[in-house]
Amino acid sequence: MGLAQLERWAEQQGQPAFRGRQLHDWLYAKGAHRLDQITVLPRAWREQLTASPPPGGPDWIGRSRELRRSIARDGTTKLLLATADGHTIETVGIPAEGRLTVCVSSQVGCPMACRFCATGKGGLQRSLAVHEIVDQVLSVREAMETRPSHVVFMGMGEPLLNIEAVLAAIDCLCTDLGMAQRQITVSTVGVPKTLPTLAERALERLGRAQFTLAVSCMPRISGCGRS
Ligand code: SF4
Repeated sequence: MGLAQLERWAEQQGQPAFRGRQLHDWLYAKGAHRLDQITVLPRAWREQLTASPPPGGPDWIGRSRELRRSIARDGTTKLLLATADGHTIETVGIPAEGRLTVCVSSQVGCPMACRFCATGKGGLQRSLAVHEIVDQVLSVREAMETRPSHVVFMGMGEPLLNIEAVLAAIDCLCTDLGMAQRQITVSTVGVPKTLPTLAERALERLGRAQFTLAVSCMPRISGCGRS
């Protein structure tokens, strides 16, 4: 949820709108993982909210759990994350001079079956929800203690098969985490008839489409990866 949604949601819960602003600050700026960490909220309300446990447990607020971290010599950091329903996804933080790029996954597995890709071999389990995409950027920020400057949708999955969640995640990264659309790249192997939908929905959802679109070689035919 963005700021306006959180304010509305707080009011629906019988709280003043500023509680939504506090939640927004703790979720995005402070990177809280559980409701019990958001101590600025009244204890009675927190207890009321945890009375009916969401899928990830009573204090779950939409963050994935880090299962494993691998750090390469150049600082590139790969995280294995567990979603609330037990799936695992990978995300990678790639440092370079003056920038940190996060390579995010958009699906659990992938149905495109590119012959050079290990993810494609397992097929598709499901598409990721918006919070599961945004969480990857927050997780890399925490792991590398650096604010990400760029995001590329180049991890597990084909983003054009999950257009609505990908665009909502871009919206969230720009509005709630202060990134610019020009710092975001959506990489696709090319899914027939999806580009007009992407363009149309991007203009509707984001007002303007300024992120970069990278189109790779055709899957199955090419022996190379992204280009
Ligand atoms: S689209 Fe990407 S994730 Fe999916 S099989 Fe091809 S290279 Fe792998």
